[in-house]
Amino acid sequence: MPRVDGDAYSGGVTTALPFPRLRSGAPAAAGSTVESSSAQGQRALSDSYGRIATDLRVSLTDRCNLRCTYCMPAEGLDWMPHEEVLTDDEMVRLITIGVTRLGIRTVRLTGGEPLLRKNLEQLVADISTLEPKPVVALTTNGIGLATRAEGLAAAGLTRINVSLDTLDPDTFKKLTRRPRLDDVLAGVAAARAAGLAPVKINSVLMRGLNDHEAAGLLSWAMAERVHLRFIEQMPLDAQHAWQRTEMITAAEIRDRLHERFDLVEDPDDAVTRGSAPAELFRVVGTDYSVGIIAAVTKPFCGACDRVRLTADGQIRNCLFSRVESDLRAPLRGGANDDEIAERWVRAVAGKRAGHGIDDPSFLQPDRPMSAIGG
Ligand code: SAM
Ligand code: SF4
Repeated sequence: MPRVDGDAYSGGVTTALPFPRLRSGAPAAAGSTVESSSAQGQRALSDSYGRIATDLRVSLTDRCNLRCTYCMPAEGLDWMPHEEVLTDDEMVRLITIGVTRLGIRTVRLTGGEPLLRKNLEQLVADISTLEPKPVVALTTNGIGLATRAEGLAAAGLTRINVSLDTLDPDTFKKLTRRPRLDDVLAGVAAARAAGLAPVKINSVLMRGLNDHEAAGLLSWAMAERVHLRFIEQMPLDAQHAWQRTEMITAAEIRDRLHERFDLVEDPDDAVTRGSAPAELFRVVGTDYSVGIIAAVTKPFCGACDRVRLTADGQIRNCLFSRVESDLRAPLRGGANDDEIAERWVRAVAGKRAGHGIDDPSFLQPDRPMSAIGG
């Protein structure tokens, strides 16, 4: 994977993408401060289009105990060697720099499967005691959550997203290649019982596999009082099998839901949406809203406030980026916090305007979703 910002730690400049010029009037990327923050002296992770990254997604591991067909092949992947993965102390140090110096307000722990990371509860506790206190969130497949939800909530976790694409055990086994539906359902119940709020459910629909379940998933989510969001399948699978023509689009998802429900655009959505990627639709006659994330057909890049840190210490300014900035080398090479923060600022400054999936020149990143952190 190409790296950005060549310097003493990476040994040279390798830049695969043209960096946009600073827009006149846009916040200066390097050196600007977080104006809205009460923490004086913080710098903003701003890019040349005026977007500011405040939402950090941290991949704690690239390993997983499921094999979702839209994510990775049946045999799994060559996992990162242990020594390449950041230690707990290294993770906490980078996240601390993000929160205390660079305006990060939400830290979402993901993977791979983050519940496989040893000491997850301690990591959550360390992050949630930072000042200013960030929102700490987790995206998980839910396996093992039944016994850990309470401990995670006690450690400071507030929000959780559980991925669940089907309520049928056979389809679950086909889609994830593991017979673990009951574990996931028990995990969702435990998350609610532990007081995690909101509990969100992420669902990806695949043609001919689970796309007939859209309305059934919505009925279930309404009964369980969990927030359901459908996500368009993205070209981030390790096997590069994604095809635009096979993808279930947001429009199709709405059509499937309409077979059983009347939906209208959520009247509050325009006011409250902000940088949230899901477009919300109110189920008529209820106070329930279902989300649809049209990542491919209606990209939300213009409002993106995310930045990603991989388990091996690379900063990615976009899910689809083909370049990364290495923070692990300076971290292990003795750089101080100022130097690491400066490198991080530069990594975000080069963020492109959009992911360009619909552009004929689009190239899928080398790193699959499971190693980026979804
Ligand atoms: N293992 C955890 C899980 O499944 O929730 C966290 C990591 S997973 C990569 C994060 C999210 O990405 C999940 O909700 C998953 O459904 C979603 N995802 C994975 N591959 C995807 C793809 N190709 N398109 C859209 N969403 C995808
Ligand atoms: Fe694992 Fe999550 Fe990928 Fe499924 S989507 S294989 S649970 S990392």
